[in-house]
Amino acid sequence: MSAPKIRNVAIIAHVDHGKTTLVDQLLKQSGAYAAHQAVTERALDRNDLEKERGITILAKVASVVWNDVRINIVDTPGHADFGGEVERILNMVDGAVILVDAAEGVLPQTKFVLGKALARGLKPIVVVNKIDRGDARPDDVHNEMFDLFAALDANEEQLDFPMLFASGRQGWAVKDLADPRESLTPLFDLILSHVAAPNLNVDAPFGMVASILESDTFLGRVLTGRVEQGRATVNMPVKVYRLDGTVVETGRLTKLLSFRGLDRVSVDEVSAGDIIAVAGLTDATIPHTIGSMDLQGPLPATPIDPPTLSMT
Ligand code: GDP
Repeated sequence: MSAPKIRNVAIIAHVDHGKTTLVDQLLKQSGAYAAHQAVTERALDRNDLEKERGITILAKVASVVWNDVRINIVDTPGHADFGGEVERILNMVDGAVILVDAAEGVLPQTKFVLGKALARGLKPIVVVNKIDRGDARPDDVHNEMFDLFAALDANEEQLDFPMLFASGRQGWAVKDLADPRESLTPLFDLILSHVAAPNLNVDAPFGMVASILESDTFLGRVLTGRVEQGRATVNMPVKVYRLDGTVVETGRLTKLLSFRGLDRVSVDEVSAGDIIAVAGLTDATIPHTIGSMDLQGPLPATPIDPPTLSMT
């Protein structure tokens, strides 16, 4: 079996610059909602919850399919609540979409997370969003972004960032403001062309780094991360390592989950490059390595720092 075609991309923005609305439109335009309601009942639960609360829930990972390529979109916190969280998220992706409000312009979290993405060597795609606002300043904000990249020591390739103007609310993105405002197709296409496919060894022993920890009512402890190498099958025995190489536990992956739309579906096998979630372990946490019995030790990961007290 060949590895599925995947892109892993982080979405970054200052709060309120439109991440949730844009991801919601990407899901709608890719047909994720329709396809996925047929597949899983939990999607319906989620919809009921949304109706009840009157909001759209932006999952940590949303997954859409475009031209047969699955795009995992990972939400990135805009601030440093626990040292290393942003880095761990960015370590799972090969690209980033950075949204900036066309009226508000660059704000502190735009700067904070862009700095981390550039330091990680990513080549972000810039989306100047909310162009429908009466007070939008598209050209000024484009220049602000260019200055910000330069101030953050972007290299030449990063400085040459692709940019789209968009309205997440109206569901369109364009390269040029004179282009017809029809859909988010230009953004989907840009993600496929600009973000590299994960290039990881599928034949090595299985290993993933736990990067997000959640507790699920039905599944218990759920750990999300990217499969860094190899493949795993459901019920496979695994060893969990701390960064110092000591073994935390041995256990079995009783559930393997892959992301679809805003939900997760149970799968029998996962392979290097996909962002997945696993259940069945009792002590594993961030940033442990979960690996097959023949993996020789932990994979590189960003350690957990104490909470960052001062943030800019
Ligand atoms: P997030 O905090 O980045 O997830 O931002 P949201 O998607 O929740 O949006 C924040 C606010 O901006 C909400 O009131 C949205 O309705 C509004 N908003 C989002 N996208 C657009 C847009 O494209 N145009 C306009 N005018 N408003 C938008």
